[in-house]
Amino acid sequence: MRIFENLESEVRGYIRSFPTIFRTAKGAILTDEQDEEYIDFFAGAGTLNYGHNNDYVQEALIDYLKSDGIVHGLDMATTAKKEFIQTFQDTILKPRNLEYKLQFTGPTGTNAVETALKLARLVKGRSNIVAFTNGYHGLSQGSLAVTGNNEYRDESYISRTNATFMPFDGYFGDMNTLKYFRKFIEDGSSGVDLPAAVILETIQGEGGINVASKEWLQELESICKEFDILIIIDDIQVGNGRSGEFFSFEFAGITPDIVTLSKSIGGGLPMALLLFKADLDQWKPGEHTGTFRGNNLAFVASRVTLENYWQNDDLTNAVFYKENILKNRLEKIAKKYEDEYTIVVRGRGLAYGFEVKNDKSIAGQISEYAFKENLICETCGSDGQVVKFLPPLTISEDLLVEGLDRFETAIEKLFLDKKQKLSEEF
Ligand code: PMP
Repeated sequence: MRIFENLESEVRGYIRSFPTIFRTAKGAILTDEQDEEYIDFFAGAGTLNYGHNNDYVQEALIDYLKSDGIVHGLDMATTAKKEFIQTFQDTILKPRNLEYKLQFTGPTGTNAVETALKLARLVKGRSNIVAFTNGYHGLSQGSLAVTGNNEYRDESYISRTNATFMPFDGYFGDMNTLKYFRKFIEDGSSGVDLPAAVILETIQGEGGINVASKEWLQELESICKEFDILIIIDDIQVGNGRSGEFFSFEFAGITPDIVTLSKSIGGGLPMALLLFKADLDQWKPGEHTGTFRGNNLAFVASRVTLENYWQNDDLTNAVFYKENILKNRLEKIAKKYEDEYTIVVRGRGLAYGFEVKNDKSIAGQISEYAFKENLICETCGSDGQVVKFLPPLTISEDLLVEGLDRFETAIEKLFLDKKQKLSEEF
């Protein structure tokens, strides 16, 4: 570990939560240099929905490289890109009656968000964007301006203008927060400029697995239609099947104007994609560029994941099946400790949060104890107060249960240690 401590910047993050050197990985298992095996309930923050070194992806990439397929091609036409676009159209868009144009941006999520904001402003000729409390959209300047999460906002010292925040679903408990939004948009003197767009995640991943309801999303869509505001759904973390269906907004029956995709859309390789309705395609040729738009290896990886997992509903059904196992087990654990701790379990698909309400520091401690049990699970929420569950969608039932067993053991050991410490103090 010393080489990282000596030479890598203090900005290092996950290496501190999971302090070992990982060497190989397959499916939902990570293996370190000591041959210790860890069950991965983090999946690259939603990038490895199809598991580490997915067999289909691995084989296709090796074949492609051996055949001297194009690796880098700016945004020139390539066979890999042609095949990806055709497969995405046939397996994802067409069956859902979605008519979107595709734009490839630089290969990170924040690139897609920047592009979405720029396009919305360009089309509407308005500068304001409405974002929601606790949302996370990335750390480049425009994305940061629409990110609520204080951990990232506080120390950036940039101008975070042209964004107005509104309360996300559930922010005030049972109150319908869209009444507040509507009033501010309706009232020309509210001080909130009519936005070009709203941007939101349907399940706030970094923000603590806060889940927007179907009704809330539908009402948001109808307000946006009424006031000529575009809806941007940031599906970077919870798209690509994480919520069960391919897009996280499908369950609500809404059709966003713009969708951002990244993380798992590249089959584990860097790729970001913007989808938007054809009438919004008002770019001039080459107006928005990027050297790594269109990572051809990711096109190949993505195409094979679409071909192998999205031709039918098998993966969606498997996600819902495993969701039941995950949810029931987490609720059972929450119940076991209900006399001492108020624990809330929430989520959709295979994105779940486990929040200990009466002690914000516990989630981080659980994650530490879980690591000692060879389980990788991260925290989220503005104070890191929620343990996050994002296992690969392809995880086997056995490994999912084994991971949950380890999670329960970790909590047992943590709470026991806490009791012991307390009794030693008095
Ligand atoms: N939007 C969402 C919803 C995200 O979860 C993330 C990353 N966690 C981003 C945007 C930014 O993606 P990237 O880190 O690839 O820039």
